[in-house]
Amino acid sequence: MRAPLIAGNWKMNGSKRDAQLLFGGVTAGAASLRGVEVAVCPPFPYLALGEAELADGVVRLGAQDVSAESAGAYTGEVAAAMLAEFGCRYVICGHSERREYHAESDTLIARKLQSVIASGMRPILCIGETLEQRECGETEAVIAAQLDGVLQVAGIEVFAALDIAYEPVWAIGTGKTATPEQAQQVHAFVRARIAASDQRIAQGLRILYGGSMKPGNAAELLAQPDIDGGLIGGASLDADDFLAICRAA
Ligand code: 13P
Repeated sequence: MRAPLIAGNWKMNGSKRDAQLLFGGVTAGAASLRGVEVAVCPPFPYLALGEAELADGVVRLGAQDVSAESAGAYTGEVAAAMLAEFGCRYVICGHSERREYHAESDTLIARKLQSVIASGMRPILCIGETLEQRECGETEAVIAAQLDGVLQVAGIEVFAALDIAYEPVWAIGTGKTATPEQAQQVHAFVRARIAASDQRIAQGLRILYGGSMKPGNAAELLAQPDIDGGLIGGASLDADDFLAICRAA
């Protein structure tokens, strides 16, 4: 009942030409896929190109961030309505790189979720613990605080309109993947935490895994009962690798 989503987060990589080739390669390969939703999230300047290249709708377009504000004197920011105008379906919110390098708080992230939903798109809310937090046995406390921070500001209803990506910070770009058991444990915890507020929303909630997911480990991760897809960084920059992960879903 939860259709899997595989989303590529290109981060700040590639050129316009690279983006064009990757849009084309992913679209061509995705046409034969069944039962999996596929999305790519290029850097902002390539969204217009993505809108044109992905016009047939086989692959959805997403953005990597958004402003919490709707308009005004916010130099360098991009509003949710602008992303919607360029055909975005998804917007990544609260990625650990935004939390770390741009000091994004749970409150700010909750407001971003609200503005994305108000503009008719679907946020992908990223959560996850650092290595230090895991080693101190704080994983569940950190995840709970990140979820509760959103719940307090935006309420349980937003969880019916978004997808979550569990991305252990220690697994991002490091080649270290959470084992399927480690990931499943946290995914089940996330679902239970949401179920404590609303059982129905929790059952429908799509929870993606992110962190060094590759063709070689995707099938095992995606076979877990509470892993409903993937948010792919490095491996999404290669159309063949990305499509291999999509086929494993
Ligand atoms: P990697 O797949 O490169 O580890 O990145 C994961 C990620 O941060 C996706 O948002």
